[in-house]
Amino acid sequence: MISEVPEIHTGWGLNLKARGFSADNFEEVRRFRENNLTRGVIPSGLSRSYGDSSISSGGVRFKSSNYRGISIDALTGLADCGSGVSIRDLEYEAHLRGFLPPVVPGTGFVTLGGAFASDIHGKSQQTDGNFSDHVSSISVIDGEGFERKFAPESEEFKATAGGMGLTGFISRLEIKLKKVDIPMVYQEEVRVRNLSEMLSTLEGLEAKYPYTVAWIDLSGSYEGRGLISGGRFAVEREVSGTKKLDFGFDKTPKVTSVPFLGYFNFMKYPSIRAFNEFWYRKPLKEGLATFPKFMHPLDSIGNWNKIYGKSGFVQYQIVISDENREVLFQILSLLKKHKVSSFLTVLKKFGHKGSGYLSFPMPGWTLAMDFASDSKNLSQVIRVLDKMVISSGGRVYLTKDSTSSPDSIALMYQDLEKWKSIKRKMDPSNFWQSDQSRRLNLC
Ligand SMILES: Cc1cc2nc3c(=O)[nH]c(=O)nc-3n(C[C@H](O)[C@H](O)[C@H](O)COP(=O)(O)OP(=O)(O)OC[C@H]3O[C@@H](n4cnc5c(N)ncnc54)[C@H](O)[C@@H]3O)c2cc1C
Repeated sequence: MISEVPEIHTGWGLNLKARGFSADNFEEVRRFRENNLTRGVIPSGLSRSYGDSSISSGGVRFKSSNYRGISIDALTGLADCGSGVSIRDLEYEAHLRGFLPPVVPGTGFVTLGGAFASDIHGKSQQTDGNFSDHVSSISVIDGEGFERKFAPESEEFKATAGGMGLTGFISRLEIKLKKVDIPMVYQEEVRVRNLSEMLSTLEGLEAKYPYTVAWIDLSGSYEGRGLISGGRFAVEREVSGTKKLDFGFDKTPKVTSVPFLGYFNFMKYPSIRAFNEFWYRKPLKEGLATFPKFMHPLDSIGNWNKIYGKSGFVQYQIVISDENREVLFQILSLLKKHKVSSFLTVLKKFGHKGSGYLSFPMPGWTLAMDFASDSKNLSQVIRVLDKMVISSGGRVYLTKDSTSSPDSIALMYQDLEKWKSIKRKMDPSNFWQSDQSRRLNLC
């Protein structure tokens, strides 16, 4: 059904808002647009993208909630799925048959359509690549309303992987699952005192663990101290003796909520500093963890994004090449100088370039920072960060972006013109549009 009156739509950052309609039936959307709308329609999953990529002011947010169903071939591990299926649901069904999805993000509340449209990466990017590397076909409803199936070699597949929903609505995907004997993780955490130690320890841990990620303290003295977490699948002897193993996969995951906090932003410098101090000193983990807890640590709290109050927050995620690792030190100095702090900062090494024309990953370092939108000096700092990223040949992640300009995106994404030519071919009337695509001149 299409909503009768416009609603307020936001992304996970709650910083950008759009007044638009929502719908879950494609024929209704098409009729509605022909009769009423000049603004476009944008596909939407579970709205875990941070900025304005799945909202359209004056347009329609077309939800994938009716595109369900998972069918897994128990021999080959090929999963045929509706795009509205969540990563959590796929993990649950796959683990029952001895498989798991090879690439999963930091939250399981992401749809498969959204995962493909952002060409997401996980903690094993350096070994497993990106989400689209494990997809053997997609079905897409293009701008003319035709549903077509594409294989990985086609230019339409490459334009849709990381294409932010702008080449069409993904209705189904075939995903190659990974065979897993014991769906439990053995994890180890290491504490490091500064950024140099962090980079070398992270690289060292990669030899031991396929899953690695680091949390950095971006407050206080901004030296880049933090915790590194490594993980691998558990082996038989580590679980033997445990009477009844709880693998931790829930068909209906239990989620608690942060109590209503009013419209106040709790993430001011003193509370960010206090949290980071506490987190840095927490006891280190070593031993077995469930796959969902290890991969999606924040999923038990449903609405943690509300702690930033009514103006929300900006997530700024970049990747830069290894030769330019100096830029990471410069970023710390810049943030220290302007006293801009990030509540939750994540660093990880990438090993593979994405195969989509607008895929974000490339070999090097990725850093994701969360800034309260009302932080003093934030826009000035982001302008400098953009320049640093561009001059070092890096880029920002479109699914997190809410601040970039058309010029900066053109410099960051070398295949942008190629992508635009395929967008024009698949969607000549710009049926599919978002606030982000208009902001960045992507349509
Ligand atoms: C806590 C948290 C942790 C995260 N961790 C990671 C991480 O580790 N790695 C990572 O890469 N990302 C991560 N993300 C980002 C997230 O994986 C992406 O933003 C993902 O695209 C969100 O999927 P969604 O279903 O919520 O899609 P939405 O947010 O609703 O949409 C995102 C984009 O996908 C498009 N889209 C959605 N569904 C379809 C469809 N059926 N057809 C075509 N286009 C579609 C939309 O138009 C939009 O452009 C994280 C986000 C959060 C909130």
